[in-house]
Amino acid sequence: MSKMDEDIANLKGIGEKLAKKLNLLGIKTKKDLIFYYPRKYDDFSEISKVTDLKPGIVTIKAKIKQATGRYVRRGMHITEAIASDETNSVRLIWFNQPYRAKALKTGAEYFISGNYELGRGRFAIMNPGAELASNFPVNTARIVPIYRETEGIKSNQIRKIIASIKKDVEAIAETLPELIIQEQKLLPRNQALLSIHFPKSTADLDEAKHRLAFEEVFSLVLSALINKKDNLKTLASKIPFDEDLIKSFVESLPYKLTDAQRKVAWQVFKDLEKNIPANRLIEGDVGSGKTVVAAMACLLTAKQAKQAAVMAPTEILARQHYRTFSELLKPFGLGGQIHLLLGSMKPQEKANAQKAIESSGSGLIIGTHSLIAEKANFKNLALAVIDEQHRFGVQQRKQLLKKAGHIPHLISMTATPIPRSLALTVYGELDVSVIDELPRGRTRPITKIISPNSKARLYKELDNTLGEDRQMFVVCPLISESDMMHYLSAEEVYKDFSEKVFKHRRVALVHGKLKTEEKVKVMQDFTSGKIDILVSTTVIEVGVNIPNASIMLIEGVERFGLAQIHQLRGRIGRGEHQGYCYLLMSDSSAPSRRIRALENTSDGFKLAELDLEIRGPGAIYGVSQHGVLDLRLADISDTKLIARARNAAQNFLDGNNLNDYPELAEEVYRNRTITSLN
Ligand code: ADP
Ligand code: MG
Repeated sequence: MSKMDEDIANLKGIGEKLAKKLNLLGIKTKKDLIFYYPRKYDDFSEISKVTDLKPGIVTIKAKIKQATGRYVRRGMHITEAIASDETNSVRLIWFNQPYRAKALKTGAEYFISGNYELGRGRFAIMNPGAELASNFPVNTARIVPIYRETEGIKSNQIRKIIASIKKDVEAIAETLPELIIQEQKLLPRNQALLSIHFPKSTADLDEAKHRLAFEEVFSLVLSALINKKDNLKTLASKIPFDEDLIKSFVESLPYKLTDAQRKVAWQVFKDLEKNIPANRLIEGDVGSGKTVVAAMACLLTAKQAKQAAVMAPTEILARQHYRTFSELLKPFGLGGQIHLLLGSMKPQEKANAQKAIESSGSGLIIGTHSLIAEKANFKNLALAVIDEQHRFGVQQRKQLLKKAGHIPHLISMTATPIPRSLALTVYGELDVSVIDELPRGRTRPITKIISPNSKARLYKELDNTLGEDRQMFVVCPLISESDMMHYLSAEEVYKDFSEKVFKHRRVALVHGKLKTEEKVKVMQDFTSGKIDILVSTTVIEVGVNIPNASIMLIEGVERFGLAQIHQLRGRIGRGEHQGYCYLLMSDSSAPSRRIRALENTSDGFKLAELDLEIRGPGAIYGVSQHGVLDLRLADISDTKLIARARNAAQNFLDGNNLNDYPELAEEVYRNRTITSLN
């Protein structure tokens, strides 16, 4: 056991009781203590003359003239003291610190730091820290770190303990190679840690933070790059490109592929030809035509007498994919080889699908997480496609790959782009392709925010549009009325619309609690135009394709995430008509920056970056599912820092052996649970 792993209970001055409290803060060893970063700093470094004091945080160097303590009210204790320097005197006041008066030595000179403010009728320095000027100041007269505290342990105690192990901080091992430290002009690690706990100046502190932030991102990126390198060692089965086949497939389509679709399809074909498993994410806004790209990859696979699996997050979408893929691929002799496997299927149906999947070893299996949950064992899975991958957890992805018994090629698709900063770090092992173009003639929906008192007028307008044979989605945040939340539920809106506002239209309701057959029936009726208005929850969020639906109302818009709303509105305006998306506020307060962003931008990437900025990496994109993304000093949206760290990591990997850097290896190893997708 290294010295750094020594139990803090063994440190001088730390008894068992204090050690227990430190444990509560996650501090068990010396090393934990050294890496217990302050949560903020109070700048007490500037020493003022008493006569110059202005309200706010101040530090003086002054002699204590007198100090007295007394109880003023029941239980309330007050200590008052006078401190003077050569210019003037000032009052010091402490509440409920009865030991103060005795501890202060009259006549001795102190550093005194605290807030100079109005207290008990006159200006005074309230609850200041005071330390003998003859000692090295820890709590005063410097930039003082403030630590996260807990019951019975205060920042000043933590400061004292860390000051007592300063030698250990100095002795902490370097992680980064000397070359990188020089190239990037970084502080050595021990110096940076010293400055984090004992900053000499703001500039000093900034430099220290930069060094430690760099290291965080560097080791994260390095770990992702190593995953990627390791992936290269795994064998996958080659799926060779068949030009004639793809050509005739493309000619069979009722439309021309966009350039972006061609470009991305080409990248996928290149991946499949290799015997290392592909790990590619296809990003493309809703409606950009990702499905057909996946269909081509599946076609190549099945024609090689291998299996491909397509996993979708909902049964509605899986069924739709089953129809789409069947239509697209039947002309190529794959009709009988396309199977649907859903949890809700009747036992006999399910058994048939399972049998087909296990025996044939070739063709296409489409399903939901049923592909993982059900008994079916793939016989010869060469390609796994995960649609709307942001809806799946890392675990589910891993399980699917595991079920294959080996690592197949993996193509995932999403309309919720990974912000660039995450793509380069946490997801650094992924190859990303972007379909950055919508099919010609496709327009983005026009989005408008609607306050509650404009609803009636809006409904009247919409009724005219519906009269022109258009259809409308209404999305609500809840199924049923709730006492807890003030949002309108799908059931309430359905009642209101079908009995009052739109009683002359055909209104239907769909949500997750309905039986599958009911859901399927309603969706079919909506698709075939038998329904004008479909009131729903987010079950329709992903993938569903109904070209004639050109209007969408989103009730209680405040309840939804940006990416989610962007997905939702991607459901409309898929046909020839301009789409309109109305964001209905649940009260008449001013819409937030988040919601206004939806009105102003139709760029899913920008919205994802904004979500990242506002809500942080934990909330979006399931980063929290990856374990702790422990960036304590680095800002995940600092693209400059990321670019520098990424370059350095790539260079490092090209010319070094990680094993020669045990401290770094330890960090990288810890990160791998976060960054590995396989
Ligand atoms: P998403 O990328 O959101 O999954 P889809 O693959 O569902 O989009 O495609 C949306 C619609 O666009 C489908 O009806 C599909 O047939 C159609 N489509 C796909 N590519 C093209 C294209 N190049 N030109 C015209 N329509 C296309
Ligand atoms: Mg899709």
